[in-house]
Amino acid sequence: MNRRSNLFGLKSVPPASAIGLSPARSKAFVDSGFESLYDLLNFFPRRYVDRRNHMGIWEAQPGTDVLVIGTVRSVSSRFVKGRREIVQVVLGDETGSLDVTFFNQAWRKRQLQPGIECALFGRIELFGRKRQMVNPLVDLIGDRTGRIVPIYPQSEKYHFKPNEMVKAIATTLKEAGWIADPLPDAFRRSLGLIDRDSAYRLIHAPGDPEDYARARERLAFDELLRIQLQLVAAKVHKEQQARGIRHSVGSLASRGRVRTSSSGRAGEFRTDTEGGFQPGLGLSDAGDLASRFLAQLPYSPTSAQLRVVGEIAMDMASGVPMHRLLQGDVGSGKTMVAVTAALFAIQSGYQAVLMAPTEVLAEQHYLGISRLLAGLEVDADQEWGLFGDSRRPLKVDLLTNKVTGTRRKSLLAELSAGGVDLVVGTHALLSEGVEFARLGLVVVDEQHRFGVEQRSLLRERSRERQELEPDVLVMTATPIPRTAAMTIFGDLDYSVLDELPPGRTPIRTRWARNEEEIDKVYARLEREVAAGRQAYVVCPLVEESEKIQAASATATYEELAATRLAGMRVGLLHGQMPTSEKAQVMEAFRHDDLDVLVSTTVIEVGVDVPNATVMVILDAARFGIAQIHQLRGRVGRGAAQSYCYLVETGELDSGGEGRLQACVESTDGFYLAERDLELRGEGTLLGARQKGASDLRIASLAKDRRILESAREVARALVGDDPFLSAFEDLRSELDGFAAGEDAEYLFRS
Ligand code: ADP
Ligand code: MG
Repeated sequence: MNRRSNLFGLKSVPPASAIGLSPARSKAFVDSGFESLYDLLNFFPRRYVDRRNHMGIWEAQPGTDVLVIGTVRSVSSRFVKGRREIVQVVLGDETGSLDVTFFNQAWRKRQLQPGIECALFGRIELFGRKRQMVNPLVDLIGDRTGRIVPIYPQSEKYHFKPNEMVKAIATTLKEAGWIADPLPDAFRRSLGLIDRDSAYRLIHAPGDPEDYARARERLAFDELLRIQLQLVAAKVHKEQQARGIRHSVGSLASRGRVRTSSSGRAGEFRTDTEGGFQPGLGLSDAGDLASRFLAQLPYSPTSAQLRVVGEIAMDMASGVPMHRLLQGDVGSGKTMVAVTAALFAIQSGYQAVLMAPTEVLAEQHYLGISRLLAGLEVDADQEWGLFGDSRRPLKVDLLTNKVTGTRRKSLLAELSAGGVDLVVGTHALLSEGVEFARLGLVVVDEQHRFGVEQRSLLRERSRERQELEPDVLVMTATPIPRTAAMTIFGDLDYSVLDELPPGRTPIRTRWARNEEEIDKVYARLEREVAAGRQAYVVCPLVEESEKIQAASATATYEELAATRLAGMRVGLLHGQMPTSEKAQVMEAFRHDDLDVLVSTTVIEVGVDVPNATVMVILDAARFGIAQIHQLRGRVGRGAAQSYCYLVETGELDSGGEGRLQACVESTDGFYLAERDLELRGEGTLLGARQKGASDLRIASLAKDRRILESAREVARALVGDDPFLSAFEDLRSELDGFAAGEDAEYLFRS
């Protein structure tokens, strides 16, 4: 066996002739997605049956979950109530026999033919003197020998006989010969990883559990390394391409590390704050808007806020364009950080944009920020002023689709002439005709609501007119676990506000499971309203459509207004209402003209009414952890004790139970994000940006944090200053094979 092969070269070898399949079987393989030997090798066992550890049927304790291995003695099926088909199997081993019942799995009668050996995992129950199992996990063993039997994913879709896959993979391994390892030996050894060839052989045929663990570690590392190499390379490439603005940040960058090279290591997934800044870029006191702003704040910034401001200042002062993600839990004070960043741009003679996902949020930001910035003046002669008298008030404005006609015209004119320093707005900022004189910073709030395309559109708009690229700060209040952040946003720098401003009273969360408890919920709501506070009631989530959602919210509103909330001033808010009506309702709630707001999740993001102290979420199990966390963040924004009630009386599966329990236990967004990842697995978490990571077949973002971190370190070391990996030909061609076409382009954008 002197042949050598390259893993990604195997992608172009179809299974047919290589492993001696008949034309019919070859078609079955291809139709099932096995188009190459590569696909076969990367079809990993779902489980292993350890033959040393199974129980005799007669020894198994009723009431416990056990693995039994036996031979199918008979199989039959019948219908109940005309529709539901029940398949009944008798399994026997040398100690006895077991009745196995499958509900709604008609295909089992084809799968479990008499004489077949299989492993069942499930709970043994005693039915009289008979032992039985209902809907156990079934693994076909066929006539395989060996102590540890790999079990491949099976479904009706794959028409493979129990041993067919095993044989195909074994032949593939033989045909492949030695599978070359693209990871330089020195790295491999220092990480304690086995080589790639051994990894593929052991994952498909481990001699013992340790073999499996070693093989899995290596293959998971490879998957994660491929993603990290692409992200790190994309990041370095981006930084080398574009020229950024060297903003004047005054003395505020005295924290954080200096970015010395274009490789942009500083601050990336680190929060260390080694000193070493070259301070002072010659700003006059009057020019140092950011410092004046911080000095006039009604509170002192948290140390997390100061740290993040320092990280941003470092980025903005450097000649490399900033692409930074700021994650901060609800209420952690991201707005103040964004405003400080805007002031860095403004005091440097540039304009800043803050884009919010909804009109409600944009207006709220506009009002809040105008208040925060009241009284600040800019040096008018920095760029525009022609006359000696050099101060004018800093100008903040608002652009949404509601701004129309002459008002819009004059705003657009001012924007392109540079008369507006900071513009807050919605998607309207992306529309035709919006141009800036000198755009220095783009802040995107609640970034998960915007597509990647929209963000880059805004940046490109200004690029047409100026040579230097504006800095970009994206903010999100949806905490995601660090591993997911490294994977999803691995081409961005990353800051975390991991500290809430002091003086907040933790929100009390309860789960109301029955009528009696629901009565208590509304009793509390009534007491709070009587005390002058306000409340939200969030309607059950209906997935079908916005329209149905609106109808259901309206029904909930009408019912509650006539019953539990009778006598209170109740408003309704849902996504199908005309914009002006929505704004009116929000305004009324903000001005305390409404006691209770019955709403859909349109209030999920950023709505800030400190007087609201009660959040009731109906049919809470329909919501995800992140959504509940966001909704809960609408209360607890003032000093008063706030309450969140999860109303859910239904029977829940363990996932639903776990989600609600987690929300009751903790209000820490990062803890909740970790729990969410454990409960749901990565698939659901990752969304649109996830092309690369949805390819994770063996690595797990929930379990493999350590492996991911070393993959990122290694990726950084390998890329260095060369995003094209010229020194590592094998890795480079592997990446090309992996991210062919679309994916690669996708990664090099954003
Ligand atoms: P989010 O991160 O959710 O956007 P905000 O920026 O809206 O948070 O801030 C939430 C509230 O906390 C606001 O009312 C804000 O004025 C207040 N706040 C922000 N920073 C501090 C601080 N350091 N000390 C006290 N209150 C603060
Ligand atoms: Mg916010």
